[in-house]
Amino acid sequence: MRFSGLRVLREGLSGNKSWTPHWRDPEPKAEYDAVIIGGGGHGLSTAYYLAKNHGMTNIAVLEKGYLGGGNVGRNTTIVRANYGLEGNSQFYSHSLKLWEGLEQDLNYNAMMSQRGIINLCHSDGQRDAFARRGNMMVSQGDDAELLSTEAVRHMLPYLDFDNIRFPIYGGLLHRRGGTARHDAVAWGFARGADQRGVDLIQQCEVTGIDIENGVVKGVQTTRGPIRAKKVGVVVAGRSGQVAAMAGMRLPIESHVLQAFVTEGIKPVIDHVVSFGMGHFYISQSDKGGLVFGGDLDFYASYAQRGNMPMMEHVMEAGMTLMPMIGKAKVLRSWGGIMDMTPDGSPIIDKTETEGLFINCGWCYGGFKAVPGSGDVFAHLMATGNRHEAAAKYRLDRFRTGVGLMDEEATGSQHNLH
Ligand SMILES: Cc1cc2nc3c(=O)[nH]c(=O)nc-3n(C[C@H](O)[C@H](O)[C@H](O)COP(=O)(O)OP(=O)(O)OC[C@H]3O[C@@H](n4cnc5c(N)ncnc54)[C@H](O)[C@@H]3O)c2cc1C
Repeated sequence: MRFSGLRVLREGLSGNKSWTPHWRDPEPKAEYDAVIIGGGGHGLSTAYYLAKNHGMTNIAVLEKGYLGGGNVGRNTTIVRANYGLEGNSQFYSHSLKLWEGLEQDLNYNAMMSQRGIINLCHSDGQRDAFARRGNMMVSQGDDAELLSTEAVRHMLPYLDFDNIRFPIYGGLLHRRGGTARHDAVAWGFARGADQRGVDLIQQCEVTGIDIENGVVKGVQTTRGPIRAKKVGVVVAGRSGQVAAMAGMRLPIESHVLQAFVTEGIKPVIDHVVSFGMGHFYISQSDKGGLVFGGDLDFYASYAQRGNMPMMEHVMEAGMTLMPMIGKAKVLRSWGGIMDMTPDGSPIIDKTETEGLFINCGWCYGGFKAVPGSGDVFAHLMATGNRHEAAAKYRLDRFRTGVGLMDEEATGSQHNLH
């Protein structure tokens, strides 16, 4: 079924009776050419691009819960390509270009909104660092503009410009950055994969990975064993646990990241605003809710929920930046489990087991990577070769120390910065 304005009009006038489910609910087959463990954004996009770009359609996505119930449906929806390090810069640039054509490609409204992201700076040193990052973004072919204090005041008049502890020295504007409706992204990829023949199997937890003589043979699941020539592990916060099923110990720690949304209010925040020094960022959803978040909980955990101490910390930062936020009522808070690498950059690689591939370590920034990650991981799984946009996301950098990518310059334990 194709979506179009005409179709929506016709269905609206005839009682919306002809819509069909977005994807099938198939029983798992005994064997596939490839299985993807994890029905989050990255797993679904990998399946989509395997089918679309490489003609691999005898594949299944195995999801222990429901599609999009993990981080892909829990994030704060920010999409951007404002990275400075060689390797990250190319990858996120590649991903943003895919975002820009995604709705047409999927024939699905993902509510992509390139409303611009402004990273605020509060010292001369931070402004210099932003100038450097902006130059790197521009030399990569992406957009960046350094804003003066006056320019920020003009664009974001609701900020507290008299704050003595965090004076606003300006900002870095990335106009092509913005937001996209997170669960629509998962549903769009799921529908696109299903239309190409991919089996999306929900309520199917992988409990073991079968390996014989160094070659992957399939997986054990709560719905029985499934044989597969290739297996991709794409389980975000559960990466350490699932990799352990294949005898691997990953350089990953899982931490909770929380977010919050207020009641809907009239339009007030046009952009995504990031207050890095206070560990706070905010945007306004299309329904009017102020969507905001902060930093990790700073201790390892698999608890997929929020808690009061971090709530207080984030609210305080919000009040520091824009005291007017105190008048809005918070509706909900929630948490997701982040797969943190020591250098803060992801891993997309083969493993020492033939046919077993790993995609993880997205830390708190993997939503923006969804199309790019699926595209390059599908390339790796189908061809056995690393895609040039992700050539630096090697697993062995944590063993050899060569090629570590400390994007945020937070030192050897990014997860504890
Ligand atoms: C509060 C919050 C805010 C965020 N904000 C942003 C943001 O603004 N921008 C941004 O770019 N990123 C953001 N992120 C990060 C981003 O959401 C994640 O990096 C990204 O979604 C992770 O990839 P995924 O979508 O594939 O993960 P998930 O959706 O978590 O998918 C992994 C799936 O694997 C399944 N799984 C796990 N174990 C098994 C098993 N044994 N068998 C079968 N299935 C299994 C899980 O159930 C899950 O559905 C945020 C995250 C959170 C929590």
